[in-house]
Amino acid sequence: TEAGCSLGHNENIRCLTTLGHFGFDCLPTQLVNKSIQKGFSFNILCVGETGIGKSTLINTLFNTNLKESKSSHFYSKVGLKVKTYELQERNIPLKLTVVKTVGYGDQINKEASYQPVVDYLDAQFEAYLQEELKIKRSLVDYHDSRIHVCLYFIAPTGHSLKSLDLLTMKNIDRRVNIIPLIAKADSLSKSDLQRFKSNIMGELVSNGIQIYQFPMDDEDTAQVNASINGMLPFAVVGSMEEVKVGKRMVRGRHYPWGVLQVENESHCDFVKLRDLLLCTNMEDLKDQTHTQHYECYRSNRLQKLGFNDTGPDNQPVSFQEMYETKRQEFLGQCQREEEELKQTFMQRVKEKELTFKDAEKELQDKFEHLKRIQQEEILKLEEERRKLEEQIIDFYKTKAASETSQVQVCTNVKKD
Ligand code: GDP
Repeated sequence: TEAGCSLGHNENIRCLTTLGHFGFDCLPTQLVNKSIQKGFSFNILCVGETGIGKSTLINTLFNTNLKESKSSHFYSKVGLKVKTYELQERNIPLKLTVVKTVGYGDQINKEASYQPVVDYLDAQFEAYLQEELKIKRSLVDYHDSRIHVCLYFIAPTGHSLKSLDLLTMKNIDRRVNIIPLIAKADSLSKSDLQRFKSNIMGELVSNGIQIYQFPMDDEDTAQVNASINGMLPFAVVGSMEEVKVGKRMVRGRHYPWGVLQVENESHCDFVKLRDLLLCTNMEDLKDQTHTQHYECYRSNRLQKLGFNDTGPDNQPVSFQEMYETKRQEFLGQCQREEEELKQTFMQRVKEKELTFKDAEKELQDKFEHLKRIQQEEILKLEEERRKLEEQIIDFYKTKAASETSQVQVCTNVKKD
């Protein structure tokens, strides 16, 4: 082996150069094979106004027509369109998820514009955290939907950022790697573009907004990345059109005065963006998502749930102890709540009993009153009946008397 060769100084020993990999120098190959078998996944979030060129740029980046319908400007609120595509380049499969804002910037209420984006980012972190906390977790085949990069599309105004841009970026910069892009950069002249770029960077710094910094700790990419960091935000142009330049067909935009070549580095920063995103920094973007943004979400979330690595005395606390304390606290709270519920229930029952008693008394009084009225009525009727009976007796008496006097008159007439 090489090691054996370097140790031995005996000139009689024959050195053989190996043709394949033996021993643990095969490890990288194993990793590569395993990764290819597993496939790669990458999740991109595109934030920008409707019609700013999000779909066109994604199509240009992946050199495919990811067909979809055009969005309108008339949505009442901002939504997110999520689509997953299975792409393949040579034998490398890539599961690409593209999330795009719909109706962004079309509403008057700015908070309503960025909140759905923030909620979406958090929801993906939460789903991953829930999977992690499961007893039987399957993170190997879990489709990780956490967003690895946010391409933020800035309108090519040539002035400065809009307040919505600042608000949104401020609210998402701790949740995702932001790469700011000047969209439709073909509408700005070279000098305008330089001024615009430095205005944007100045505004981002003065507002304390953190954008993704291309890493400089890797010797191979440090130099390129350092110069690239100074070029942000990237001025991009997207197009799926094939245009003839000389004898070649290139991807570009045809204007009356000439052709803008998307893949020409002196025309725009598209190639830089594509190389950084897909060739050199995809793994770092995924790494940053997991180690920085997800970690931040996870620790905040667990702290909110009451977990801490150290106790009040700054001593490490065991998970078991913390769990027991939390459990006792929870049980105590349950008991307190049960007690409170019982008290409220008893109070309610008492109140109801009182109202029932009042109602019963009211009914009883009403009944007594009606009974009295009825008795008085009966007495009155009795009196009237008595009077009527007297009148009837009087009537019969008068009748009998009149009959007797009538008979006497008749006898007297006959006699005469
Ligand atoms: P989305 O709503 O943000 O997805 O925007 P689209 O990608 O559908 O683009 C809207 C329109 O802008 C289309 O007519 C595109 O041809 C055009 N467009 C896209 N990218 C560019 C660009 O870089 N420069 C110019 N001038 N137009 C572009």
